[in-house]
Amino acid sequence: MERAHLLDRLASETFDVLVIGGGASGAGVALEAASRGLKTALVERYDFSEGTSSRSTKLIHGGVRYLEIAVKTFDRVQLNLVRDALHERATMLKNAPHLSRPLWLLTPLYKFWEAPYYYTGLKIYDLLAGKARLQPAQYIGARGTLERFPSVNPQGLKGAVAYQDGQFDDARFNVELALTAAQQGAVVLNYAEVTGLLKQNGQLSGVVVKDGLGSREMEVVSRVVVNATGPFSDAIRRMDDPHTPPLLKASSGIHIVLDKKYSPPDTGLLIPKTEDGRVVFVLPWQGGTLVGTTDDPAPVVDHPRVTEEEIGYVLRQVKPYLGEIPRASVRASWSGLRPLVSRPEADTARLARDHLIQKSASGLLTLTGGKWTTYRKMALDLVNYAIRQFGLQAGPSRTEQIPLLGGQGYKPDGAKKLEQLGFPPDVAEHLHHAYGAHAQAVAQIAAEGYQARLAVEWPYLEAEVIYAVRHEMAYTPLDVLARRTRLAFLDTLAALAATPRVAELMGTELGWDSERVSLEREKARTQILNAI
Ligand SMILES: Cc1cc2nc3c(=O)[nH]c(=O)nc-3n(C[C@H](O)[C@H](O)[C@H](O)COP(=O)(O)OP(=O)(O)OC[C@H]3O[C@@H](n4cnc5c(N)ncnc54)[C@H](O)[C@@H]3O)c2cc1C
Repeated sequence: MERAHLLDRLASETFDVLVIGGGASGAGVALEAASRGLKTALVERYDFSEGTSSRSTKLIHGGVRYLEIAVKTFDRVQLNLVRDALHERATMLKNAPHLSRPLWLLTPLYKFWEAPYYYTGLKIYDLLAGKARLQPAQYIGARGTLERFPSVNPQGLKGAVAYQDGQFDDARFNVELALTAAQQGAVVLNYAEVTGLLKQNGQLSGVVVKDGLGSREMEVVSRVVVNATGPFSDAIRRMDDPHTPPLLKASSGIHIVLDKKYSPPDTGLLIPKTEDGRVVFVLPWQGGTLVGTTDDPAPVVDHPRVTEEEIGYVLRQVKPYLGEIPRASVRASWSGLRPLVSRPEADTARLARDHLIQKSASGLLTLTGGKWTTYRKMALDLVNYAIRQFGLQAGPSRTEQIPLLGGQGYKPDGAKKLEQLGFPPDVAEHLHHAYGAHAQAVAQIAAEGYQARLAVEWPYLEAEVIYAVRHEMAYTPLDVLARRTRLAFLDTLAALAATPRVAELMGTELGWDSERVSLEREKARTQILNAI
């Protein structure tokens, strides 16, 4: 996967579909299109999953909150959305068994009358899932609740309703999605920004791409151009038509990460009502406890910052359930921007879904809204629409059956095998889940002298830095620290401390001189300190 070669291909070939944006939506479209035999390119201006897609709550879900609204308002369309998302939940769990898992979630109840309400709701959730159902929802008494989630406030606790949803590593899923698209023949590039659109007779004929790691700028020719830039969709739409009214509003959602002692390894909490009527999750995730989220209007910026008020808000919401948690216990925090469609009545090819496909007068296809869980369905709708609108010749959709890279040949007992090779249990578990069928390849690099940890308390190895550069298109220390491993999302101080070694290892692989190593190290440190 030589970068220069990929850039040459971009500049010289003619594509059926060019996708702008390497988040969940864009990578999903690239896989859908390439696997149906369409000549596909994907360009992402930063790293894959740099935007919203690495900053989610990491739940693969139909959304119990959406279900509640659907039932209360007798909204059949909403109910169908939940059902579709539950179907996609099963597909994601099947196609990426290494990166995802079913997770029990408890809704603790402090009033008896709450039990039938939540229990019935979650039974409807099971029912809607049909064949895609996980373990059935159940009511558990106060003692059972405390056994399963010991840190929950026992005072007045009546019991809990337990149900299952999926949980995943969003950024690694996203990177593997892009790499799987490449495996299916797509030309996929990160650090490649679209800076302009090309038109012939008023119709889009391609885009201008600037190489973010060099000085090349090139014209890329494509029959269809897909705008999958999430919160930045309006910026691309304005490149197409400077007078177009905005389609989106952004809302920010933050998460904080606490020590793992706040949640057992396989059960989370759904706090059903916050002071302003939202829900908050407390989830075990990658050796930490993930808590969030918020929902506040926000400007569209790169690397949105987390404010102290937002952290205070989250800590306040969990206090009645987990007790007072000092601010100093927050090990990491980050913010993500939701692209919310603000003009659903716009001149759109709207489908009865919570995502939106819009075709502009010049033929630009914008895909936005939706959620991580429905990325494949969104991509399927978009590609079907493009085939119809542009008369493309394509095969049937296969993405329901295509496992992600590490899911191809995945063996559930992989962690045991790694332990037999001498890896400590936490490292073996981590490598098995992060890389699936490719864990052995990382283990081999470790055996070449890269078995040291990047941070004492965490299972990430130096070998992963080398593997990320060689096989996962990582070009900066933050690509490794935030999205190939998740250290920067879990533990700010540990990530800062690991940065010099990561920069050094990358420098050796990529041929950086000492000045470049320092530059990359400082860039990563600044970003980790301010906002990842
Ligand atoms: C706080 C929060 C929690 C969430 N939790 C969940 C959850 O638990 N489960 C769930 O299913 N969903 C969840 N979601 C929703 C989900 O994360 C989003 O729907 C999804 O990630 C959106 O992906 P995207 O690809 O559309 O956007 P993005 O991930 O933002 O991707 C857009 C990409 O386009 C790139 N780009 C922009 N301009 C250009 C350009 N000129 N050239 C090239 N590239 C460009 C950006 O760099 C970016 O990487 C959550 C969202 C938020 C905000």
